[in-house]
Amino acid sequence: MNLAADLEHFGVVHRPHGRFVARVGDDTPNGYRLKVSCTCGVTLERWVTQDDAVDDVLRERLGVQPT
Ligand SMILES: [Zn+2]
Repeated sequence: MNLAADLEHFGVVHRPHGRFVARVGDDTPNGYRLKVSCTCGVTLERWVTQDDAVDDVLRERLGVQPT
């Protein structure tokens, strides 16, 4: 599974639990670390490179704006 599919899956599974919180780490030349937390305590943590187009997935599928 690629990252976008991972995020979508996470969204489908955890959407009923409540809201998500997305955090991004420091930008580096190789990308950044993304952390999406669900209110149930599960966190999805992935390394995101510039090739991963995850912003739309986060906004549209998970309803979060990464900060
Ligand atoms: Zn959950």
